[in-house]
Amino acid sequence: MPLKKTKNYITQPLELLKKLQLTPEQMLFSEEANNSFQFKVPTAFVSKIEIGNPNDPLLRQIFPIQQETIQTPDYHIDPLDEANYCTQSGLLQKYYGRALLLVTPSCAINCRYCFRRHYPYDEKGYLWSQIEHNIQLIEKDTSISEVILSGGDPLSLSDRRFAQIIDRLNSIAHLKRLRIHTRFPIVEPQRISTDFLQILTSCQLRIIIVLHINHAQEIAPDNQKSIAKLHQIHCILLNQSVLLKGVNNHVDQLEALSEALIDNHIIPYYLHLLDKVQGAAHFSISDKLAYQIYQQLRAKLPGYMLPKLVKEIPGEVSKTPFFL
Ligand SMILES: *Cc1c(COP(=O)(O)O)cnc(C)c1O
Ligand code: SF4
Repeated sequence: MPLKKTKNYITQPLELLKKLQLTPEQMLFSEEANNSFQFKVPTAFVSKIEIGNPNDPLLRQIFPIQQETIQTPDYHIDPLDEANYCTQSGLLQKYYGRALLLVTPSCAINCRYCFRRHYPYDEKGYLWSQIEHNIQLIEKDTSISEVILSGGDPLSLSDRRFAQIIDRLNSIAHLKRLRIHTRFPIVEPQRISTDFLQILTSCQLRIIIVLHINHAQEIAPDNQKSIAKLHQIHCILLNQSVLLKGVNNHVDQLEALSEALIDNHIIPYYLHLLDKVQGAAHFSISDKLAYQIYQQLRAKLPGYMLPKLVKEIPGEVSKTPFFL
């Protein structure tokens, strides 16, 4: 008998709707939106979406709808002006002491509000020769103490390629920390294999894993196990979320998220205001409302469970705390 092939992803929106017993009309599905940014969702994430609920907070993060195609003033293709900070293909140096290394354009899941959804990913940046070149630049700059692996999602790389990068970074004396920005442990927990954990364990640098979870419903026994494994090998676990209308724009949802994070040894790190990327305007709430929700959250949570509400302003020396 042939081996049953396991399918990790759904790449057709209508296939997902069928599974969830929803119609394209109910979801205001848009082919045009779908064509502008590829639909991709891991089955592990799908398993946490409620059947028959068009307003499910997980479904909203990934489903291409008509509102995406509306042109909105102030929403841009490169809202963070990254093209300007990319001094080298695949290397971003915006903040002191930290270098962000783009190692792959590919993600486990494609989020509709992603500020890189129109990013002109330059294939050249991901060739091994370019990554190696960027690592050499990091090697020459002793002011850098932390390397941030980002993309895309660095865990999209094969174990072999990932290990190669870790080995190279390990050999740089002035580096102290390795940070990995990833959604994999949550959306495709099987990626955190024994072999992968072994690669992390072999790394001499302090490892900080910054997850991206927007709603408590994303955390379930399958990914709790993967998170626990990362915790057991002494990774520091942080989470960043984006404040998104229809996903987590209510104080109860944000409170439940912080509770779920701490239960799993994850410290809430950032709550980002939405970057104004074209196609994501329907996720935005006013600054005033965002601030009100945040004040309500502050009144409910211990300080260490309160993420920092931040906005990214091109040209600033750090992410900017948001006040009104
Ligand atoms: C967000 C970001 C960082 C990390 O900032 P922290 O405040 O240290 O989390 C580093 N480099 C770039 C380009 C970034 O966008
Ligand atoms: S995982 Fe991150 S980089 Fe990838 S699509 Fe989602 S928000 Fe964008």
